[in-house]
Amino acid sequence: MSNDLIAISKEYNKQMIKKWGKDSQIVKTISEMAELSSILCDYLLYGEKTDWKNEDKNLKSKIESEIADVLITVNSLLVIFDEKKVSTHITFKLLRVITRLKEYEKCHT
Ligand SMILES: [Mg+2]
Repeated sequence: MSNDLIAISKEYNKQMIKKWGKDSQIVKTISEMAELSSILCDYLLYGEKTDWKNEDKNLKSKIESEIADVLITVNSLLVIFDEKKVSTHITFKLLRVITRLKEYEKCHT
């Protein structure tokens, strides 16, 4: 997601939170994550071109749409919760993954 889209998304999320409240945005985020989870299960069960609920639509395109919903709503969580602390967690977790990848490479070369 580009920085421009993140900034735009954050601005509209602020407006939505002001209008409908934090709880509403948190519930919406949970709902969007559930929709993405469900469609990913369908993808693994039936493959990308088989959508038994809507035969004319490609599952891959629906997944991409649900990913967009999740990214937008997760951005609202960054307005509600402490974005700087989330960034700290991201940095820590990415460094941990890098370390694990290097250890894996050492063991498998
Ligand atoms: Mg959705």
